[in-house]
Amino acid sequence: MKPFKMAARESHENDTLVPIAGPERTIYIGEGYCTIIAGPCAVESREDYLEIAVQLKTMGVHILRGGAFKPRTSPYSFQGLGRSGIVIMAEARQLTGLPLISEALDVRDLDYLYEQVDIIQIGSRSMQNFPLLEQVGKLDKPVLLKRGMAATIEEWLLAAEYILNRGNPQVILCERGIRTFENYTRNTVDIGAIALVKILSHLPIIVDPSHATGKWRMVTPVAKAAIVAGADGVMVEVHPEPDRALSDGKQSLTLENFQKLREQIINLAKIEHKIVL
Ligand code: PEP
Ligand code: MN
Repeated sequence: MKPFKMAARESHENDTLVPIAGPERTIYIGEGYCTIIAGPCAVESREDYLEIAVQLKTMGVHILRGGAFKPRTSPYSFQGLGRSGIVIMAEARQLTGLPLISEALDVRDLDYLYEQVDIIQIGSRSMQNFPLLEQVGKLDKPVLLKRGMAATIEEWLLAAEYILNRGNPQVILCERGIRTFENYTRNTVDIGAIALVKILSHLPIIVDPSHATGKWRMVTPVAKAAIVAGADGVMVEVHPEPDRALSDGKQSLTLENFQKLREQIINLAKIEHKIVL
């Protein structure tokens, strides 16, 4: 038996399909679907967030992203708006009818996030925050588990196991690149991990080509490669004016470039016989 028992394909005959119950309709992540998540790295202001949320809705995005509790490398960098950022996201949810994803950094914010967002994100830096994993494991809420930047695939699946074995089966994995000797890019995308996870596990897996590369020009090609490798969707950072983003501007797509990415992803999804809602 594999060390990750509940995450292992052997334990679950069919691929897991995670329903995301939005205010207007249910979106799915997993077998048979190609799901597109987009939004800015961080919620920066109410006006900007609501505006981009409306634009992304008209462009056919399925789920809105936005960071309110930001795990920044430097304590001097913008740390996010905290709970007031989540309030803005909740307003965007009402306005657009789109479900939300946002990161939980601290167990103390989980009750609050539980009420407001549709998917709780566990970031790369928190992948082995076991108390946090155990707490989201007790929730009836989908969890997006990003791969730790220095985590092996086995460590990642064991982190998923912490959530599953506490009773929450709604785990979605997210490949976001790993640390290697290469430093031209922010991280090194592990496309092979997507194909391997599909063999080892029944859990859905998406890719985040924004953090995986750190360069907006690489986002669309890498997103496409991930879909062909078997990913169930993508999560990308989009900013109305990347040059003035408070975080991750270099890897953020403009709305125009996001539109191009979306068209190309939808074309590939059709070839792969995936449903795009
Ligand atoms: C994010 O998606 O907002 C993020 C911080 O990414 P990661 O945890 O992969 O660095
Ligand atoms: Mn970011």
